[in-house]
Amino acid sequence: MTRTPTIGVLALQGDVREHLTALAAADAAAVPVRRPEELAAIDGLVLPGGESTTISKLAALFGLSEPLRAAISGGLPVYGTCAGLIMLADKILDPRSGQETFGGIDMIVRRNAFGRQNESFEAFVDVRGVVGGPVEGVFIRAPWVESVGARAEVLAEHEGHVVAVRQDRVLATSFHPELTGDHRVHELFVDMVRTSG
Ligand code: GLN
Repeated sequence: MTRTPTIGVLALQGDVREHLTALAAADAAAVPVRRPEELAAIDGLVLPGGESTTISKLAALFGLSEPLRAAISGGLPVYGTCAGLIMLADKILDPRSGQETFGGIDMIVRRNAFGRQNESFEAFVDVRGVVGGPVEGVFIRAPWVESVGARAEVLAEHEGHVVAVRQDRVLATSFHPELTGDHRVHELFVDMVRTSG
């Protein structure tokens, strides 16, 4: 893809604006997405952090759950941060009743896994595929990845727990790189979108 890719940010709940800013800084045309029809106009999609139970409910209410599942399994590149990572897991270890994910990565996640010791913290994380040194990750009631299947590649760990994963065109991090002004993880995703198109 030689033109600037158009990347949507699912704008139901969460830190949508920060992702729009980070994507624009990483040379993508960034647009909010709220309706199923809008999926046809994007080359990639970001699922922001927020609250995965709320995102799950609102996606169902807006008629987005099935279209999103279909788009992801059809090869739409997607990047999820924190609650977005949870939405991309094929399985949640401790779902709230009725909580459903979009799926996309063969992994099992534990919600609020880092939350018991620390509600929120920052840590430098080495992310495979991101050059120029560790990325500053902001962890806010963050999940970790309990286990990954054979097709998923672990990109980063923090204190022995998996916090970044990629499977084909789907990328997920437990932490929020969009809050730091360092856009290298978004650049990695924009590259994934470019090479997929
Ligand atoms: N704990 C939240 C959830 O379960 C995720 C928090 C976040 O996205 N910062 O959805």
